Amino acid sequence: MPHLLQVWPSIIKRLKEAEQVLLLSDYDGTLTPLAARPELAVLGQEARHTLLRLSRQDKYIVGIVSGRSLSDVAAIVDLPQLLYAGNHGLEIAGPDLDFVHPEAKSLGETRGLLLHDLQEDLSLLPGVFVEDKGMTLSVHYRLAADDLAGEIESRFNTAVSPYLKPGGWKTSLGKKVFEVRPDIPWDKGKAIAYLQDAYPRASLTFYFGDDITDEDGFEVVQSGGGIAIFVGQARQPTKALYRVDSPQEVLQTLQLIGQQ
Ligand SMILES: [Mg+2]
Repeated sequence: MPHLLQVWPSIIKRLKEAEQVLLLSDYDGTLTPLAARPELAVLGQEARHTLLRLSRQDKYIVGIVSGRSLSDVAAIVDLPQLLYAGNHGLEIAGPDLDFVHPEAKSLGETRGLLLHDLQEDLSLLPGVFVEDKGMTLSVHYRLAADDLAGEIESRFNTAVSPYLKPGGWKTSLGKKVFEVRPDIPWDKGKAIAYLQDAYPRASLTFYFGDDITDEDGFEVVQSGGGIAIFVGQARQPTKALYRVDSPQEVLQTLQLIGQQ
């Protein structure tokens, strides 16, 4: 998988040809290094200024597509000019957009029960915490000892099993996090397709991401002729055709794009 900068001349050509560009990125592990707790993954000032400068150019529509809740990601990035898709796209907001997936909204009652069960079974384990993200729930264990991982997984599976059914809930895995999400056909890829429909003048889409849930985004972007960039080491499996090494290189790439 080539590094994005190895093919940079062809990227510049495509940037110049596009009337408008949808510039989308995941947040954790992509714009900021992964942190022990979500609230510690703060966006650097340089990255914030770069995103702000890009969003002020008519050519670029800048958005963040995150597994965090919409209110959380919008607050931590703190740039009202940007688009935000939270909870893997179940909620989307921007200067002219306001979307909440209707089926996800209707699962509120069982979500409360599920949250209660997860807290009861998991939150007393050292280094584990259960996060209520409004429409989805996450069990974080980055701070837990490695030899607890099996125990955490088995308790998680036991707690969620009564809720797993079509039209109910489903689980997904991230880096040191288990997630429970509404079992509806919606993901980061669908959210990106929604944004592409909302901005038909944007003929080119970029998407940067580092984790498993970003793969749906990579697929949608590349099937529409866009540019998907995996953030991480080359040996990790991904559908993205290009990669950069780190959040620092994502920032450098965004700065290069801004200079075009
Ligand atoms: Mg990520």
